[in-house]
Amino acid sequence: MLADLHIHTTFSDGINTPEAIVRQAVAAGLSAIAITDHDNVRGCDRAMAYVRDEKIPLKVLRGVEIDTNYKGKDVHVLGYHFSETEPALRQAMAWNRSQRVDRAQRITEKIHSLGYDITFQEVLAEAAGSRSLGRPHIARLLVKKGFFPDVKAVFDTLIGKGKPCYLRQVKLPPREAAALIHQAGGIAVLAHPAEIEDPALVEEILDSTPFDGMEVWHPSVLQESPRHDWLAVARSHHLIPSGGSDLHGNPGRFPSRLGEFPVRYEDVAGIIESGQSCRE
Ligand code: AMP
Ligand code: ZN
Ligand code: FE
Ligand code: FE
Repeated sequence: MLADLHIHTTFSDGINTPEAIVRQAVAAGLSAIAITDHDNVRGCDRAMAYVRDEKIPLKVLRGVEIDTNYKGKDVHVLGYHFSETEPALRQAMAWNRSQRVDRAQRITEKIHSLGYDITFQEVLAEAAGSRSLGRPHIARLLVKKGFFPDVKAVFDTLIGKGKPCYLRQVKLPPREAAALIHQAGGIAVLAHPAEIEDPALVEEILDSTPFDGMEVWHPSVLQESPRHDWLAVARSHHLIPSGGSDLHGNPGRFPSRLGEFPVRYEDVAGIIESGQSCRE
């Protein structure tokens, strides 16, 4: 049995609609998925409604990925099984989304000043339907206009961390995001620790944040050399192991479809089943 607890849709910076994700998950033989869009749950609502209305035999977990910042590093916090109506959590997500708009506008202006003919209106059009603007939308526009071969090339040249048009976003600290998820009755999971690229800092974050789980299986570990034993880290901190593909579907970024980065259901059953006592 397979599962995938980290998936993005068109409601953040992915290219697949929630309904398409559900159909792909069934086709790929997955038993459980979580939609974890950035800073909003609209895509998750849609996927949950779709499996319910169409009576599709797939478990869809309530999920979200919240951007936070710890000592200047981007730290992503995944939430599962929370109540999406909790006001403080909703407010924090709305604040993050407004920071995203502001930052995307400033990044677009920087790119424009380097001589690339793009406008913020075009970025907004590229992100039409999304609730959460992100750098991949800017990257997709630049690819569409023929400036770059794929999204990855845009990150590597212009908007990845340390590149000329990169801008930091004002974000909450991880412990605040975890507290908001807890307040909403959910569990908080540290996303892709390998992307932090500093195992000592990850330890510090784990020691200072009341996480319930940690994402042990994620495509970012494939790039690590040497490979870090994240499962051992999770165990030593008494964290429930989680895993997912972080599928966006943006061209040039692995994976390109569900099932390409398989995660075993039994490995992440602790996360899936921790919600069984929660409301439906
Ligand atoms: P943002 O939310 O605006 O900070 O953008 C972060 C998102 O950009 C991540 O969730 C990924 O979807 C994507 N991303 C980050 N780095 C890369 C990269 N090197 N190549 C392609 N996509 C990337
Ligand atoms: Zn993303
Ligand atoms: Fe992330
Ligand atoms: Fe993600």
